[in-house]
Amino acid sequence: MNNLFKKLPSVDEILRENDIIKLLENYKHDYVVKIIRQVLSDYRDKISHNIEVTINKQEIVKRILEYLSKNTHCNLKRVINATGVVIHTNLGRSIFPDELIKNLWEVTAHYSTLEYNIENGKRGSRYSLVEKLLCEVTGAEAALVVNNNAAAVLLSLSVMSKGKEVIVSRGQLVEIGGSFRIPDVMLQSGAILKEVGTTNKTHDYDYTNAINENTGLILKVHTSNFRLIGFTEEVSTEKLVEISEKYNIPIMEDLGSGVLVDLRKYGLPYEPTVQEVVKAGMDIVTFSGDKLLGGPQAGIIVGKKSFIDLMKKHPLTRAVRVDKMCLSTLEYILRIYLYNEPEKIIPTLKMLTLNKDILYERAVKLKDILSNINKVKTDIIEISSMAGGGALAEQDIPSYGIKIEIDNLSSNDIENKFRTGDIPIICRIVSDAVILDVRTLLEDDYDIIFKSVKKITEG
Ligand SMILES: *Cc1c(COP(=O)(O)O)cnc(C)c1O
Repeated sequence: MNNLFKKLPSVDEILRENDIIKLLENYKHDYVVKIIRQVLSDYRDKISHNIEVTINKQEIVKRILEYLSKNTHCNLKRVINATGVVIHTNLGRSIFPDELIKNLWEVTAHYSTLEYNIENGKRGSRYSLVEKLLCEVTGAEAALVVNNNAAAVLLSLSVMSKGKEVIVSRGQLVEIGGSFRIPDVMLQSGAILKEVGTTNKTHDYDYTNAINENTGLILKVHTSNFRLIGFTEEVSTEKLVEISEKYNIPIMEDLGSGVLVDLRKYGLPYEPTVQEVVKAGMDIVTFSGDKLLGGPQAGIIVGKKSFIDLMKKHPLTRAVRVDKMCLSTLEYILRIYLYNEPEKIIPTLKMLTLNKDILYERAVKLKDILSNINKVKTDIIEISSMAGGGALAEQDIPSYGIKIEIDNLSSNDIENKFRTGDIPIICRIVSDAVILDVRTLLEDDYDIIFKSVKKITEG
């Protein structure tokens, strides 16, 4: 063992290797030294644990180069979503249409009109870039975009009800992943939570009985990824607006997903659209940019101008403001909503509304592609996809998938190899079988899956 330790080259010796000298032309000396030390320390660990190693300077240099290449690749990278969950929060939620990238490049690789008014040559407001468009597509009087919907709710509560009571149904005091909890957000905003009703039933008189001189707001929250079934009742938006008008109390709805297209004609369940909720008379409506809207991460606030004007001046707004990448991509997506059938263009909606014939064709295509590989067995099966994040979250949507088996590998082995490949393939294991749902596959994913499976079978 001692002998092996002695055979290990020193850091200085390695620094004199040609490949390393070349590396130092680009990389910081301290960074390269750190990596050399790391690789040498891995060797020492192996030696002290009696794991067999051969010590060869060339091999060590190769390891260092590999280590560096792994560490200089971006951690945030593309994956293939074969889970069938369309708005997959862990995999980046909504994806953009290819054509959007040109616009994003124009705006971000060059200077832009982010806060500059071309007409008068004076300072402009970044918020005005998409406000008109948001009003156009939602029917609201005014709009404001912030960093995400959590921020939109926090800002709205801070402006509308700080120090005042906010009436919320107990059935809507939900937690929406990543520790966004309505009672906690309320506390942060300085509003006072006034819960009414019971978990399963809340009536209109629960709201009216709770109103007093310190009531600041009525809040409705979309329960998103949580559903109450059975003996339940909640008060409709229309009725809540009626109460709000009668008692002159502002009203707001956290709609979560914010769908702008009625998806019932594609067999999906009814979800109130933003336009409907605005039209019903909600003073403020908030929703995410990257859920059913199909855009970038953003929190969109639409509603009455008097409230939006107050929000624009609030100090929190600066802390949760959006950048030019968000505004550029959001504007691009919103413009698609001026077209007749945005669901044919916006990837999130396109995937959600794919019909079963197309899904079947895709499954056949994937099966065909994989059928040329030895040791692989595939079957087309009927499965359920999910919308994911926000409204429709747990809704099963019929789809097709490929069940894939590879000789001598367990389902867990296959899943693991898929996940750790050059371009990770994220799949589901259902009843111990590896399933690739074709709903969320993109045009150029098929070839990558083919190569990946081939590589796995070749060991
Ligand atoms: C998703 C969701 C949020 C959080 O939105 P983010 O954009 O992820 O911050 C808040 N409220 C509801 C009802 C949601 O569905």
